[in-house]
Amino acid sequence: MTAGIIDGKTFAARIRTEVAAHVARLGAATGTAPGLAVVLVGEDPASQVYVRSKHAATVEAGMASFEHRLPAATTQAELLALIGRLNADPAVHGILVQLPLPAHLNADAVINAIDPAKDVDGFHISNVGLLATGQKAMVPCTPLGCLMLLRDRLGSLAGAEAVVIGRSNIVGKPMAQLLLRDSATVTVAHSRTRDLAAVCRRADILVAAVGRPEMITGEMVKAGATVIDVGINRVERDGKARLVGDVDFASVAAVAGAITPVPGGVGPMTIACLLANTLTAFCRSRGLPEPEGLTA
Ligand code: NDP
Repeated sequence: MTAGIIDGKTFAARIRTEVAAHVARLGAATGTAPGLAVVLVGEDPASQVYVRSKHAATVEAGMASFEHRLPAATTQAELLALIGRLNADPAVHGILVQLPLPAHLNADAVINAIDPAKDVDGFHISNVGLLATGQKAMVPCTPLGCLMLLRDRLGSLAGAEAVVIGRSNIVGKPMAQLLLRDSATVTVAHSRTRDLAAVCRRADILVAAVGRPEMITGEMVKAGATVIDVGINRVERDGKARLVGDVDFASVAAVAGAITPVPGGVGPMTIACLLANTLTAFCRSRGLPEPEGLTA
C-alpha cells in the first residue's frame, strides 16, 4: 500500500471538540445555546440509529437537542404544522428532517417548508441556489465534510482535476459545487457516463458517491490521486455483515496518494458537520461572527 490514510474519525473528533468549545464560549457570552431539532417520521431502523447518534452528538457538544418522533401515519399537514412551529421557535436554530420519509409524504415540500436559515442539512431550494451562485449558504453536511478533509490534506484545490462520481442532490451535486467554488476543474460522472474508468483516471481528486460496493478499482485511479469514498454499503463477507465503500480499498490504496477508509473516513464527518452547521446557523441568527474553518 502506498496511500496515506485520511483519518476522518480523528478529524471529526477535532471538529466536534472545536464546536463544543465555541458553544461553551458563546453560552457564557449570550446565556443561550444552539438548538437542533430532529424530526423522524416512522420506524425505519437505520433512520432510528442515525437520529440517536445525532441526538448524542448534539448533547455532547453542549447544544440543546429537540427530538420529534412521529408515527408513520403522520399526514403532510401535520408534518408541515410541526415544521412551522419549529421555524417560529427561537430556541431552535437548526431543523433536520430525517430522510427518507414514508412514501405518502412529499419530501421536497417538507424540506422547502423549513426556514432556509435553519436548514442545517442544506437541502432547501434557497440554499441549493445560494451554493450554486457562490453565495453564503447552509451547505449539505456530507459534501462539507469531504471538502474539509480535502482542504486539510491538499491545502489549495485550485486547478486540480476533480471527478465526482454520482449526481444526487445530497452528495454529488453539492460536492461538485463546492469543488468548483474552490477552483477545481470539475467533472461529474453518473450511470450514463461513457468509459467511467478513463474519466476517473484523469482525477487528481476522486470523490465516489455511488452506492455500489467497491466498484472503483485501482486501475481506474491515477497514481497519487486523493480518493474520497462517500459510499456506505452493507455487504456479507465470509458469513459476516460488513460495511464497505464504493472504492475497492486494497487495489486503490496501492496507487492513490491518499484515501479515506470505510468506516472511519467520510461517515464521522457528516455528524461533525451537522454540529458545525447548527453552530453557524446560531451565529448567523444572532449576527455573531462565524467560527473559522467550520463552513465552506
Ligand atoms: P444516490 O443513489 O442518490 O445516487 C447515486 C449516484 O450514483 C447517481 O447519481 C447514479 O447515477 C450514480 N451511479 C449509479 N450507478 C453508477 C455507475 N455504475 N456508474 C457511475 N455512476 C453510477 O446515492 P447518494 O448520493 O444518496 O449516496 C451515495 C452513497 O453515499 C451511498 O452509498 C450512500 O449510502 C452514501 N452516503 C454516505 C453518507 C455519509 O455520511 N458518509 C451520507 C450520504 C450518502 P444516475 O444519477 O445516473 O442514476
